[in-house]
Amino acid sequence: MPPPSLAPPSVRPARDALLRWFARHARDFPWRHDRTPYRVLVAEAMLQQTRAETVVPYFERWMRALPDLHALARAGPDTVLRLWEGLGYYRRAHALRRAAQEVVHERGGRFPDQEAELRTLPGVGPYTAAAVAAFAFGRAAIAIDGNVRRVGARLLADPAPRDADLRAHLAPLLPARAPGRTTEALIELGATVCRPTSPRCDLCPLASVCSGRMYGRPEAFPAAGRRSPPRTRRRYAALHLNGDRLWLIRRPEGGLLAGLWGPPQQEEPPPGRFLPEVAHRYSHFALRLTPVVATPGAPPPPPPDGGDGAWCDPATVAELPLSTVDRKVVALARDAGLLTVLPSRP
Ligand code: SF4
Repeated sequence: MPPPSLAPPSVRPARDALLRWFARHARDFPWRHDRTPYRVLVAEAMLQQTRAETVVPYFERWMRALPDLHALARAGPDTVLRLWEGLGYYRRAHALRRAAQEVVHERGGRFPDQEAELRTLPGVGPYTAAAVAAFAFGRAAIAIDGNVRRVGARLLADPAPRDADLRAHLAPLLPARAPGRTTEALIELGATVCRPTSPRCDLCPLASVCSGRMYGRPEAFPAAGRRSPPRTRRRYAALHLNGDRLWLIRRPEGGLLAGLWGPPQQEEPPPGRFLPEVAHRYSHFALRLTPVVATPGAPPPPPPDGGDGAWCDPATVAELPLSTVDRKVVALARDAGLLTVLPSRP
């Protein structure tokens, strides 16, 4: 029997089944209401590498503070980073702010509505451009994230499909009316039914056109890449205290924690009192960070590249944007009785 395909006449029933399934089973997220390009852009930036359920409170807090493009364009970098704090990949927050400034100041507030033009905005790659074009402007664009790549690879039974092939193969699924909903339905299908392991083919609206399922081994697609274990980096965070104030520096723009504040870090253990280690997993390395309380009176290191550094009281520490790891380091110092209890996060 030949493998199923998305050619006529099978494509139309599959397309209808997918849209019916989405209408019934789509999860309700705040970014699925009031789909302005701004809200879609913010949501898609937050959703990269982060589970949708985790993003919900961040998205709602962001929209309360910065409800539209103009508010974001006016916001300072610390405000933006504070709202992003905990989501990681902080360069995305900087890029969002630059994109808002570009649309407001250089494009007269007009948001691009085509994929190609959207891709010229700071931080907007092929996936985000297609998502904004489809969800906010209803364009027939296929946004290929990990979910759609997996669904497409299984439909095609292709262990390593190129994105261009996936777009060509999935294009017939897009109806002339409201094609954006199909794009979103594919993402949702990958997130909830066509899961990386144990796909629920029995519940899948595309089962009748799926080659991977027909071959009886959908999980073989796409082929798993060889993953080397992440490197471990050991570092030390120097806690310099002056009464109840803590020395913090602002991390350089362009680095891993661009623009965030935190205690200075170094590779070599400094003299002082060691606190319990903090472990954190970044996408490409594992960090084991030991906070060290510096000897009283020892001068703190200057910030790198002539950047900012400041003695910060507890209220300022609570207000400044810090990474998740640095927030844990500060909490350890508080638990050790070195700082007063900090106000809780908003
Ligand atoms: S039939 Fe199974 S493998 Fe194919 S798209 Fe649906 S859930 Fe994925």
